[in-house]
Amino acid sequence: MKFCLKCKQDKDQSEFSKNRSCKDGLQDWCKSCCSEEHKAYLKTEDGKEAQKKGNKRYLQTEAGKAANRRKVSPEKIKAHKAVAYALKTGKLRKRPCEICTNPKVRAFYPDYCKPLEVIWLCRGCLRKCKNPSPTTGPVLVR
Ligand SMILES: [Zn+2]
Ligand SMILES: [Zn+2]
Repeated sequence: MKFCLKCKQDKDQSEFSKNRSCKDGLQDWCKSCCSEEHKAYLKTEDGKEAQKKGNKRYLQTEAGKAANRRKVSPEKIKAHKAVAYALKTGKLRKRPCEICTNPKVRAFYPDYCKPLEVIWLCRGCLRKCKNPSPTTGPVLVR
């Protein structure tokens, strides 16, 4: 048994998280006290900031990146599928980059609700202008 300094109760060792910097290798507070405290901390400004940073760091990890990729909106997936299908059936044709005429292009969707009204941009231009004006005109082959 170990005495929790927070809730002043004797609890089983398994109720305490490991902490190498402590004498007995266990935290002074039991797990439930720690999680209560952590929750309270996350509500403070400091906590919110730390959370944001932690999240950013997490997103840079492979696991975080994968989780982020999975979050791709269903509209986006639908739009990609619609374009892939239209390309296959010849309804839509790839065009050189609208800006620099580079033949290696990717579809840019000004509006996912109209997936076939894509703008073709090369990788570089796509990165440079993440929001090309939809007035550039769609390149739908009719
Ligand atoms: Zn406790
Ligand atoms: Zn380009």
